[in-house]
Amino acid sequence: MGRTRRGLTGWLADFGRLVMPPVCVVCHDALSRGEDFICLDCLANLPRTCIHGDGFNALHQRLAGRTPIQRTAAMFYYYTQSLYADLIHEAKYNERPSIARKLAKIYADELLKDNFFDGIDLLLPVPIHPLKKIVRGYNQTEHIAMGIHEATGIKIGDNLIVKRGHTSQTRKNAYDRWLNSRDIYMTKSPASLAGLHVLIVDDVITTGATLLACADAIHTAEPSASISVLTLGATHLR
Ligand SMILES: [Zn+2]
Repeated sequence: MGRTRRGLTGWLADFGRLVMPPVCVVCHDALSRGEDFICLDCLANLPRTCIHGDGFNALHQRLAGRTPIQRTAAMFYYYTQSLYADLIHEAKYNERPSIARKLAKIYADELLKDNFFDGIDLLLPVPIHPLKKIVRGYNQTEHIAMGIHEATGIKIGDNLIVKRGHTSQTRKNAYDRWLNSRDIYMTKSPASLAGLHVLIVDDVITTGATLLACADAIHTAEPSASISVLTLGATHLR
């Protein structure tokens, strides 16, 4: 029975590909068998930052504030006009959070080889306002954390929460973004983070205001926690 059902499923999948072949999120060419959401060419040409680790780097610069950040990592450069931006847009706005999860799994598998996750105890996705989550149906950063968890086995925590809503960041300059992000986040059960090394996870780092606000919220509530950050996308420094 199982064989028949699998066979039928496979046949339906093949038929589905024939009628509406899945295409690469980036270049929109039809995917070959074995490719999933992104074609091998686009994956090979992903504009990688190659930034990860605990050395002082361009991301550390963006996150320089009162809270020390241990390690930073970003998978690829994100430009709104780039076709690669669709990886983030589809995951965030088009009900395809599995893209974020799968990309994060690919990235985490790579970072594992460089010991990036050594000593990290907990993944903390940047939260969105509960109303926004109801409307969108999901929080894409939780799916990024799931992808990292699949690669590393590190647990996902829900200690970061939104204290109040905030207006859209997209048309604000760096200072306005910082002002807008301050005091939005707070830490639930901070004592449970005592002495832990947490990895804050977000989709894109632009000015760093959101990640800094999250880091500050953790550091203020539980100063003994160490903090690192990981994002999929990173805009270039202006
Ligand atoms: Zn492609």
